[in-house]
Parts: sequence; C-alpha cells; structure tokens
Amino acid sequence: MRVLVVEDDEGIATGLDAHLRQLGWAVDMTDGVEAAWTALCVEPFDLVLLDLGLRDGDGSEVLRRLRHASPDRLPDAATPVLVMTARDQVAARIECLDMGADDYVTKPFDPDELAARMRALRRRSVGRAQPLLRAGPLEIDPATRAVRLDGQAVDLSAREFGVLLSLMEVRPRVLSRAQIEARLYSWDDALDSNAVEVHVHHLRKKLGEGVVRTLRGVGYFVPEDKA
Ligand code: CA
Repeated sequence: MRVLVVEDDEGIATGLDAHLRQLGWAVDMTDGVEAAWTALCVEPFDLVLLDLGLRDGDGSEVLRRLRHASPDRLPDAATPVLVMTARDQVAARIECLDMGADDYVTKPFDPDELAARMRALRRRSVGRAQPLLRAGPLEIDPATRAVRLDGQAVDLSAREFGVLLSLMEVRPRVLSRAQIEARLYSWDDALDSNAVEVHVHHLRKKLGEGVVRTLRGVGYFVPEDKA
C-alpha cells in the first residue's frame, strides 16, 4: 500500500514514517497543502493521512481539491483520506467528514490503532469486507502479514508480501510492473529496474508457479479460483 502522509510536525512525521514503513507500506512524506497536492497529481496513492494545521494552510483544502478532482487523470478523487486532528477540533472533524474524509484519529493517537483504521479503509476502498484474502489454497492476512499455503506458514520478505497483497487485492485484474512499483516504492526507495520480476520469481519459488501468473507484455495477476 502506498501512503501519502501530510504532516508538518517533524516529530509526528518521523514517528509515522518509521511505524508505517515497518508495516511494509511505501510512505511518502509531505508537510504542506501545495506539496501534498503536487504529490497527489503525480502519483497514485492508496491512502492519505492528513493533518489539518499545516504550515501553508489548512489540510482540509487538500481534501476539498481531491474530492473535486476531474475523472480520468490523477489525482483519483476517490482516494481514501484519514484526517488527524487535535482532540478539541470537533467542528473541523465534522466539516472534514462531510467534505468526504473517510475516517479520523485524534492526536495523540495509538499507532497500532491508526494502522488498523488504515487497513479497514483500504478494505472498504477495494470493496472487501473480509480481513483475510484467499485464493485457492493460499490465505494472507494483511494485519499480521501471515501467509499460509495449504495451512502451512510461508515466510515472505516485506516486498514479496507487498507484491502478493497488491495482486490479491485486485484479483483477477492484471497489474503492470509500473503499477506494482507505484504501490511498493516511495520516492526515497532505491529501485532496481528488475525488482518486481525478482520478487515475483521468489514468490513462485515459495508458493508454486500457479499463484502469480504473467500476462505477457502486460503484467501480473492472481487468477480466479477454478469452479
Ligand atoms: Ca500541524
């Protein structure tokens, strides 16, 4: 999952960056309205964590622009937004929810609760009610990052898990290498040109050849279960 964090408090931003990366998510940090808007216009994000009091304006401006974005180009107007507010900012929270924010946390928040809320938002945005994802004998849990094949635990690296989760979330749709990279790597991450191929290769070694398929010249997909 690719996350844009919009937060101008350096301490909070640093803590969030470390915590979310540890969960295997690709995180990009911005500290203002205009920087956030620029980021949203050039990259597809799966979720935005939005602070309201920013150095160059109110974070709700990012939300307002996002929800009014034109179709067929970035940013995606439906990108889930989780607002971070102070405990006493009740009116601002109500305004943001009515403006199209999907959820909020009040500062100081518990990072694990925040992560759980982000996973819940992600499930909703991809239209999934079940916390576990299954494909045939394969079962993956985004919360614990546990992977089981025929009931046996399989050990995946964070990136391998990220590739698999990205494909499972949109199954049986095909994702191109660039689409997978956009979900897995933030601007700060060094990216080998064949990184996705290498992760897919390892996934096939660990899970068998049939789970992640190649559509030649297009990308990768996890097929539907056979009826
Ligand atoms: Ca702030």
